[in-house]
Amino acid sequence: MLQMVHPQPKRLEDYRPIVGDAVVDEILRLADRLKGARVAHVNSTAFGGGVAEILQSLVPLMQDVGLEASWQVIEGSDEFFNVTKACHNGLQGMDVPFTDSMKALWTRYNQLNGEQFEGEYDFVVVHDPQPAGLISFAPPGTGRHWIWRCHIDTSHPHPAYWDFFLPYINAYEVAVFTMRQYVDPGVQGPSIRIIAPTIDPLTPKNRDIPLEEAWSEVEKFGIQRYKPLVTQVSRFDPWKDPLGVIDAYRKVRKEFPETQLALVGSMAADDPEGWYYLDKTCRHAGEDDQIFILHNFHGVGAYQVGCFQTVSRIIVQKSIREGFGLVVSEALWKGKPVIGGDVGGIPLQVLDGQTGFLVKSVEECAEKMRRLLRDPRLAEQMGQAGKDHVRRHFLITRHLRDYLKLLDELRP
Ligand code: UDP
Repeated sequence: MLQMVHPQPKRLEDYRPIVGDAVVDEILRLADRLKGARVAHVNSTAFGGGVAEILQSLVPLMQDVGLEASWQVIEGSDEFFNVTKACHNGLQGMDVPFTDSMKALWTRYNQLNGEQFEGEYDFVVVHDPQPAGLISFAPPGTGRHWIWRCHIDTSHPHPAYWDFFLPYINAYEVAVFTMRQYVDPGVQGPSIRIIAPTIDPLTPKNRDIPLEEAWSEVEKFGIQRYKPLVTQVSRFDPWKDPLGVIDAYRKVRKEFPETQLALVGSMAADDPEGWYYLDKTCRHAGEDDQIFILHNFHGVGAYQVGCFQTVSRIIVQKSIREGFGLVVSEALWKGKPVIGGDVGGIPLQVLDGQTGFLVKSVEECAEKMRRLLRDPRLAEQMGQAGKDHVRRHFLITRHLRDYLKLLDELRP
């Protein structure tokens, strides 16, 4: 059996005051038709990164509305996760080698995990490339409908990786992508769905945290309350460009010398490269003691991330590739303007000039930071517009509804 994850229970009814009756009632109607359906979600980590974040909420909400939903994670060694990280990078277009021994290692672990997959599910939802081979190695009869949920940007994949993964992807009945642009024409087998990810407004991270409470938490890390704070929350990863954020911040310091920068990032269990990139980021920051580089080993958990997002003047997400970027919606939901890289799913959330700014360079990022630091009223307005935008499009209830619709359509 694969390792089961047991997230905290959740109640759909608790979301009614936030999203309204129509949304909740539609979910209940759809769920009624799927009562007792057995759904297995499979991914590669129970902690760290956007997929784990989503499953923490989606799985218990599916259970609450009457589905028999489970969440299982595959097992792998550091060596395997080094390969899957290379796959992640290669599928997002990075020029990295993909050797025969890497392919063999990926296949071996997918086979081992596939053979351990047990049960009889109406729907198996496999998340991302790491366990994509499960469908080929799982015992017959374990899954009736197989869905591959891709959370990354596969619009310009490295051909060596894409050619290797395509036969696995094409074995699925349905492939779900975040954006239409991510779908390569080679995806021929599955029917395609477009579903954007969402955030859960009731988690310790995203619930309303009073400003006073949030500041006293953030102050514990040495950050000063009366000086402006700019924050980026993300894994230490080249695509998230923490080095570029530091460069932009340095340009801003000339006009706003008191500004502090926090780079907050959790170390995901399936991302061994994170440690290397963390070191690189620290070296880039050097001795600057107004730059705070923090992660879960400093005690920055989900709640603290929410506190940082709550007290920051500006949130930056200067990615150069991004599947969706849950952190953007998380920040907008807290009424903060976001300066985001003009890539992937960020423009779905950052409407340029309305909920923040889209940027393509360090220089532009610095310029928009200065603009928002100079004009707190504009920052406030953008943050409010962002919150409304997230309420309409990027809350977990919309995600749950989209999944229920999909499962309902697949039933015979
Ligand atoms: N996250 C966190 N602690 C951190 C850094 C990130 O809890 O120190 C969370 C973050 O709040 C978000 C998720 O991890 O919910 C990252 O998702 P996103 O889609 O932004 O990026 P991914 O890591 O999946 O590429």
